[in-house]
Amino acid sequence: MGLCIDMAAIAANWRALADLAPGARPGAVVKADAYGLGAARVAPALYAAGARDFFVALAAEGRAIRPLLPDDARIFVLSGHMPRARLDGLIPVLNSAEQFFRDRALRPRGAFAIQLDTGMNRLGMEPAEWAAVAPDALAAHTDAGTGPALVMSHLACADEPAHPANAVQLAEFNRLTQGIGAPRSLAATGGILLGRDYHFDLTRPGIGLYGGAPFAAAQPVVTLSLEVIQTRSVGPGECVGYGCAWTPARPSRIATVAGGYADGLLRALSGRAAVLWAGDRPCPIVGRVSMDLITVDVTDLAVVPPELEILNPRQGVDALAAAAGTIGYEILTSLGGRYPRQWS
Ligand SMILES: *Cc1c(COP(=O)(O)O)cnc(C)c1O
Repeated sequence: MGLCIDMAAIAANWRALADLAPGARPGAVVKADAYGLGAARVAPALYAAGARDFFVALAAEGRAIRPLLPDDARIFVLSGHMPRARLDGLIPVLNSAEQFFRDRALRPRGAFAIQLDTGMNRLGMEPAEWAAVAPDALAAHTDAGTGPALVMSHLACADEPAHPANAVQLAEFNRLTQGIGAPRSLAATGGILLGRDYHFDLTRPGIGLYGGAPFAAAQPVVTLSLEVIQTRSVGPGECVGYGCAWTPARPSRIATVAGGYADGLLRALSGRAAVLWAGDRPCPIVGRVSMDLITVDVTDLAVVPPELEILNPRQGVDALAAAAGTIGYEILTSLGGRYPRQWS
């Protein structure tokens, strides 16, 4: 019952992604509470598997896991050095000249990384900015050594291998970083799968660790099973749920299940997805997903199911995402905290 998170599968996925980029140090992205699965559990488990380089979005996320990891673990903060950020024990990924000079003024010997924009236009220094900052950045003395701990960029279209932006960004990253001496990083999950030209010195897989596309070979990580609260018979001429959005075409058995959009079962799933009985028997979600409940057509089951699975190895985060018109990342990070969680 509840959300089961397979920690051995996460470690196996990390190892498999590491093996796909044999020349590079495999990092681990644990932002957004490890994509909703619990960074306080996931980060130490990945450290035990061998990971030493962790990425979070915000300094507060980094501070939360810093005490849980030994000193040789590095925690990179992707939003960099924001005003008022508390960065002790963390490594900001500096995204602009403004962040760079703020960081050097406030933490002159603190370790730092640099992000360059190579075409995504989201985070990172523009080429002209980098040209101005590079002499200072590459010569900066920190307690961890000289220069940036990492110079990185991020791909906009890595999940589409044939997209021309990939080669354009790769060429731009090479142009901006050739010969700098500092370790370089370009690939998240999708970039790892694009091949060795994209691997550089360190990789930053996120979604692939958690069983999501584009890492098709990932082991499934999450199972979410929901309790059936009650079942009832509903016949033609009656309706089910808010808006009376569904009416049965035949005498039907409807199960009311404890889980709704407040638990991350997106309302867009209404009438478009199934939950599974006994691992693989699909039962359609009928009517609207409400805040705490979904209604499921279990007419064709021979038994009254005590619980039904909405995520499992047969129906993974990407299948559920497709039904809701979104991506696996959003399904994972939406998973709520109301049902019990088990890390096994
Ligand atoms: C989120 C993120 C990653 C991880 O991406 P996945 O697609 O989940 O592997 C890596 N690098 C940066 C900069 C990110 O924002």
